[in-house]
Amino acid sequence: MAVINEAGKILYPVVVQRATTRQVLMCAFADDEALELTRKTKRAHFYSRSRQSLWEKGLTSGNYLIVQDVLPDCDNDSFLYVVTNDNPACHRNTTSCFDNSPGSEDGPNPLARLYQYIHERQNADPNQSYTAQLLQGPLEKLLKKIGEEAIEVIVAAATDSHTEGADLVWESCDLLYHLSVLLARFDVSLQTLDQELIRRHDRSLFAVMNRHPLRLLSHN
Ligand code: AMP
Ligand code: ZN
Ligand code: ZN
Ligand code: ZN
Repeated sequence: MAVINEAGKILYPVVVQRATTRQVLMCAFADDEALELTRKTKRAHFYSRSRQSLWEKGLTSGNYLIVQDVLPDCDNDSFLYVVTNDNPACHRNTTSCFDNSPGSEDGPNPLARLYQYIHERQNADPNQSYTAQLLQGPLEKLLKKIGEEAIEVIVAAATDSHTEGADLVWESCDLLYHLSVLLARFDVSLQTLDQELIRRHDRSLFAVMNRHPLRLLSHN
């Protein structure tokens, strides 16, 4: 879906997406030079059609975008920039140019939001932040906490009680939060978990296919 501008330059549409939340941040055009500079410097570069020149995102606003991957589409004429930092992508200083896109601040993907929140506290002052305490303090304390929260989930589920602080939703959030802190401490990303889940899913599909090869291949 490339376009050719008045000067005969080939421009490719680029979708910019946040790695952690999968949120779509912005859309812009890039020429070959911008793509190459993005790959080389890991900073998002585009081609500005209004200024008719190379555009390094953030050069004037400071809101540069760090690009972990430049991915071509199926036929190499549009691209995805996968971004790892938290700068707002829109010139209005909002996260995304698409205010109501899925994965926006109040959209879905609560785990990714939780994980990002925790990640941002990696270098915070432990006196100011409980998350920073768990991240930087003794590992043993965090492990003990996870054990306690797991038991609280079990108790909430078993007793079906809705007294304050003892319900399944509350305790599940406690457990997910502390487990996420543990993963952050060991630098295990949500993408890593995602890859493992996909691998298991593929494997179970494969097992089903081995059991019923003809049924699956004949579509009925
Ligand atoms: P920046 O690259 O963030 O330093 O912004 C430089 C200029 O690019 C701004 O003044 C805007 O005109 C434009 N701009 C920045 N971000 C966007 C965006 N997400 N979509 C379209 N134009 C943008
Ligand atoms: Zn295409
Ligand atoms: Zn915008
Ligand atoms: Zn709890």
